[in-house]
This record gives sequence, structure tokens and C-alpha cells, in this order.
Amino acid sequence: MTNPLYDALLGRHAHSDATLLHLADGKTLSYADIAGRVARISGMLRSAGLAKGDRLAMQCPKSPQALALYLACLHSGVIFLPLNTAYMPDEISYFVGDATPKLLVVDPAAKSVLQPVADKVGATLLTLDANGRGSFVDAVGAATPTADAVACDSDDLACLLYTSGTTGRSKGAMLTQGNLLSNAITLTKTWRFTSDDVLLHALPIFHAHGLFVACNVLMNAGGSMIWLPGFAVEPVLEALPRATTMMGVPTFYTRLLDADGFTKDISGHMRLFTSGSAPLLAETHDQFGARTGHAILERYGMTETGMNTSNPYDAERRPGTVGFPLEGVELRVAGRDGVEIPQGETGMIEVRGPNVFKGYWQMPEKTAEELRPDGFFITGDLGRIDADGYVTIVGREKDLIISGGYNIYPKEIEQLLNEQPGVKESAVIGVPHSDFGEGVVAVLVPEGGAPDVEAIKADVSARLANYKRPKEYVIRDELPRNTMGKVQKNVLRDAYADLLK
Ligand code: ATP
Ligand code: MG
Repeated sequence: MTNPLYDALLGRHAHSDATLLHLADGKTLSYADIAGRVARISGMLRSAGLAKGDRLAMQCPKSPQALALYLACLHSGVIFLPLNTAYMPDEISYFVGDATPKLLVVDPAAKSVLQPVADKVGATLLTLDANGRGSFVDAVGAATPTADAVACDSDDLACLLYTSGTTGRSKGAMLTQGNLLSNAITLTKTWRFTSDDVLLHALPIFHAHGLFVACNVLMNAGGSMIWLPGFAVEPVLEALPRATTMMGVPTFYTRLLDADGFTKDISGHMRLFTSGSAPLLAETHDQFGARTGHAILERYGMTETGMNTSNPYDAERRPGTVGFPLEGVELRVAGRDGVEIPQGETGMIEVRGPNVFKGYWQMPEKTAEELRPDGFFITGDLGRIDADGYVTIVGREKDLIISGGYNIYPKEIEQLLNEQPGVKESAVIGVPHSDFGEGVVAVLVPEGGAPDVEAIKADVSARLANYKRPKEYVIRDELPRNTMGKVQKNVLRDAYADLLK
């Protein structure tokens, strides 16, 4: 029997004593250890009545058991649905109501509030804590292991992963075995992962980045991971000397740069640092290079497609860009009609390839709107391709401002504002304007004291066309972010909707 994704990640290493996880307490777990756990979990899933195509939702802290549960779902053909640990019961209620899992595995602390959520859809609720304890583990202990993986083909669903909800309500992306496997193979090759690699894993595992990019690639390569419960500067500094590679979101890198202990000595031996999930400022890229001698490799992807582009391993990693389309992935920059526009111009990024998802769970209309008949997925991100083929993400289409008929890309203005003295970060939004349709509003987060808005206005006037200049400046202590740390511009647009009316 075959199960291509499971076989690639764990099946073919199932008898290997090679280390898969280096744990915080100094212990290690081998591939064979995890395969043994997976067989027991699969036995439990089977005796609980879960069969191929059923859903299992998990909202648990990161632990080796949680990783084994993901792998056991692949092994059993059960569709795995990981949920952000920051989600509150109301949010979980939406996901569980939408996906109707048969089993819900949660942190024991959330049991009493989530039991009614499980009951509502007739799901069984089990618990699993950060230390690998709970009723889930008890049930697994009582089950008879099943060593054989359930036969699956590349078109079968492996995971249901909800988007981050940055632009609106999260949508369930149906990801097949083939989607995940093709991306794992391509990234292993592009980033040269081998069984000698030790990945510093500080990302959460409820998201494409930490689970599919990090775990799938490392397991496909047969390497190991230093398994940290989350990102904190001190444990990362302590682990770096033992790692060969690290994958992070931009804030990991800005926080490391803020730490005095983050030096060339501690990072010089590393083979690769990658960044994604949100834009990495060119400034961060440059500071990191100056401190460590490493050029962070930025890549671009999304829940629906996995990774689409990457800066090159061997050639120039160009700051502010996300590199080239990955092997097997076609990327075009198109107009609203889906027709490719001239090279260098900004338009909608569309992608096609074996990585592109099957559609949104129970949203046929949304799926039809975003997947073109020729198979290209309309990403919602605006971008352009430079003369050398590097792709730059300009921003999301939903954040594009159209004022007096002109297109205004917030990123251009934000870059200018971020450079101003006293400005820590900024967000530029469009809000209704009586004459122009939309007008530009700049939201500034101060660094130190209050920024000198008059001085900023003067600089902006000298450097930006009139129609791009913010009509109002607002100071806020921080920008609203979702649980993935992404700025929620829709929240800002609502908050300042009446400012220019
Ligand atoms: P939702 O679709 O629910 O609004 P979301 O798009 O934030 O949320 P994800 O799938 O987690 O959900 O994120 C994918 C998005 O993240 C991409 O469409 C893109 O806007 C952004 N992104 C990812 N990597 C990068 C990058 N390197 N540079 C800029 N943006 C990036
Ligand atoms: Mg999205």
C-alpha cells in the first residue's frame, strides 16, 4: 500500500535510529521513536472510528506528541486540521462548525469551554498538554498499534488549513498529499537540505510555515530539528551553535538583532537563514548581513499554495524581493482579466503548479472566484517582476488605495515613513474621501517620544507626488495584528473610516 506523503516524511525512515527531534531537556527522539508513536496513535484513531477522509482538529501547544498526531493523520488518511493556539473559544467554534471534525484534541486548560463546541458537532474531545499528558495520551496507551499506512493517492486531502484571517474571515484551504509533497521535495532541493541538517525550529506548528515548510522539508531530507516550544531570544541563542539552519518570520530576525548576544561568532557557522510569512524589510536584511555575514533568504508563499517563490541559494539574494518562482511553479503578473501584463509593471500575482490547493472547504463560489479555469490561482497579492526575474510583493490588492483615479501602493509610502526619526513602524490605508473616493491616512507608531509630524509632512511633500501624500496622520501605540503577527489594515480602515468624510 502506498501513502506518498507519509512514506516520504516518515515511512521510509521508520526504522532509522537517526535523530528527528532534539528536545529542550537534552533528550532526543529518533525517526523510529516517532514512527512507533504514530503507529499507536493510528491504532487509537481507528478504534475511535476515524477513517480516511474524516477530519481531526487540534488546538494544542507544540510538543513531539502534537507532531506525531499530525503524522498519524497522514498515516491514517485522516484530514488534519491544526488550529492556532491563540484562537479563543468563539473562533474555535467557527472552525469546528465549518470543518465538522470527528475528534478534537485540545489543551486540558481549554477542556471545559471547548466541550460544548465539540458536543455541538458530535465530536469526541481529548486533551493533550505541552508535556505530552492528557486523555489523548491515555487513549493512545490503551490502543493496539497499526503499523500499515492507509493507502492514499496524491489527490487525496491531507490537511485542511485555515488562512490567517488577515483580510477577513479565515477560509479552509483543502491541501492534498500531492500539494504538500511537491512543495517539500522542491524546497528540499532548492535550499539543499540533507540528512546532515539540524534545523532550529522555533515556529508554531499550526501554520504552513512551521509545519509544512519546516517539518515536512526536514523530514523529507532525513535531517533533525532542535524543537523549541516557541521563539524566545535566549533559548534561540543557546541553540544556535548546534544548528545548521533556521527558518523564521521577520520578527525573529529583528528580535535577534536587538540582542547583544547575537554575534557573528554565534551564527557564522550556519548554512542558511530563511524568512517568510510577512515582508522582511530590506533594512533588516542589510543589518543582518552586516552583523552575521549572512544574507537572509526570503521566500513567498501562502496557505492555499505553500511556497511559490524563493530567493536563490547560490546566486544573489536580493533584499526586498522574494526571488524567483520555484521549480514547477508558474507565476504570472496579470490584470483583472487574467491576461499577463508587460514585464516590470505591477499587477496581480497568479500562480499555477502542483502546490496549488484543491479549493476552499465548502466554499465553491469563493473557489471559483479565485481559481481560474486554466488552473491559475489569484493570490490577492500585487507584485512585479524585475528585468532579472526577481519578484517583488508590493502589497495586497485589498490594501491598494485608489484616490482620484490614481493607484497608490501603501508600501511605497510606508517605506518612506519608516525611515523618519521617531517612527518605529507605520501603516498606510485608504479611507472614504468625499472628493477623491479614497484618501490616504498614515498611522504612525512612535519610537521614543512623539514624532515631529510637521517635519515628516515636509519630507513627504519633497519626495512624494501630491496624490500619494497622507491627508491625515494618526499616532497609535501599536498596530492591530492578527495572531500571526500580521497587520490588520481592515481594522484600521474601520477605525478611521470617518476621518476624511
Ligand atoms: P487571509 O487570506 O485569511 O486574509 P493571510 O493571507 O494573511 O490571511 P496566509 O495564507 O497565512 O493568510 O498568508 C499568506 C500571505 O502572507 C500572502 O498572500 C502574502 O500577502 C503574505 N506573505 C507571505 N510571505 C510573504 C513575503 N515574503 N513578503 C510579503 N508578503 C508575504
Ligand atoms: Mg490570504
